[in-house]
Amino acid sequence: MNLEFETQNCWEVYSKQEKKINSLAQKYLKFLSQNKTERETINYVRQILQEKGFSEDFSQEKVYRILHHKTIFIARKGKRPLQEGIRLIGAHADTPRLDLKQHPFYEECEVALAKTHYYGGIRKHQWLARPLALHGVIVKTSGEKVEINLGEHPEDPVFTIADLLPHLAYKQIEKKVSEAFEAEKLNVILGHIPLKQAKEKKIKNHLLKLLQERFGLKEEDFFSAEVQAVPAGPAREVGLDRGLIGGYGQDDRICVFLALEAFLASEIPEHTQVLVFWDKEEIGSEGSSGAKSLFLEYCLKDLLLAWEEKNTSFAQMLLNSKAISADVHAAMDPDYQEVHEKLNASLLGKGPVMCKFTGHRGKYGANDAHAEYVAWLRNLLNQQQIPWQMAELGKVDLGGGGTVAKYLAIYGLEIIDFGPGVLSMHSPFELSSKADLYATFLAYKYFLNT
Ligand code: MN
Ligand code: MN
Repeated sequence: MNLEFETQNCWEVYSKQEKKINSLAQKYLKFLSQNKTERETINYVRQILQEKGFSEDFSQEKVYRILHHKTIFIARKGKRPLQEGIRLIGAHADTPRLDLKQHPFYEECEVALAKTHYYGGIRKHQWLARPLALHGVIVKTSGEKVEINLGEHPEDPVFTIADLLPHLAYKQIEKKVSEAFEAEKLNVILGHIPLKQAKEKKIKNHLLKLLQERFGLKEEDFFSAEVQAVPAGPAREVGLDRGLIGGYGQDDRICVFLALEAFLASEIPEHTQVLVFWDKEEIGSEGSSGAKSLFLEYCLKDLLLAWEEKNTSFAQMLLNSKAISADVHAAMDPDYQEVHEKLNASLLGKGPVMCKFTGHRGKYGANDAHAEYVAWLRNLLNQQQIPWQMAELGKVDLGGGGTVAKYLAIYGLEIIDFGPGVLSMHSPFELSSKADLYATFLAYKYFLNT
């Protein structure tokens, strides 16, 4: 009998299920290519729920509610009363990117540009000299909403941020990376042809004229706009064997996609199943659409009112609940193995990663899942023979990070971070494993149905 714990390779475990792995991966590639903002992602989820007969009317048994187009609550009634607890998976639909400033447009050196303010933890140099697309909404004073999505179709133009040529970068390369790339130089090139009739700022005015002609917009409309510059183009298969998926925004749309797929593949459950896809995780879960808000609480209280006749305790419902904070984990990078502590690092292809605690040096800011709950989840996965791994984010003194787990933990429910590993996290081209995708799907499905 082997007493040592050994991780398993999902490709080997699921060697007879390559068709299923690939069909899930193809669906995911399409999802990832089409949904690059939180609004687009929530809209995708809403469309699928409507097709599947979900309602905004909480007196029904399959329901959802959307807040500000950016966050969604979904529930399916279980056989047991709410007091016995729910099964909840929370993920986030926002991703690091460059937001246009409210005063974006200007011209310099014969090009028109847009100022940006980055959102979330980006490495600025990764956004230079690459094709960018613009996604977002602009709301006019009439309330009319203009949605834009420019740079994704092969016939669309793209946008870009110019980078410094190496010939003139001698001073820059001497600087620390944190100082070498300045946020105020992340300006997106939008145009180049001057407008003949204009007296001054001819290129900027040409840009404004095109925005007017195509979308009926004027400069002031951009004060009430949320426009994001994101990497242009579709997600791709990576590797000669096509075993990996490369694309923007896998943190955390991979978990949004998998939680939804797992939820839709489930039958009428014992416990009520709940999914929440939040916004603003990348900037600390703030605001009315973030996990620190009361949105989830409002929704659960309304469910209690709608579904249960006698007085059910809100506190008891949550205290009896089990949750997964579905977010990506940093897989060990073959080129930077030194930032990981190998005994407690995760690997691509070895299944979803349990992270007992997140946080920074000394576990500051962590949710720490209880040993009893880890044992429960371990048992569930082992029963289903789903490969999984246990890891920490990196070496203790090197950094850290957090997820939505701690904002749910305040209710006293059991919660743990559990999701697939990715490489190049927060970059314009994150990498995940098709086999992990499949294993995580199965894990979420069984979790929801326990
Ligand atoms: Mn995340
Ligand atoms: Mn993140």
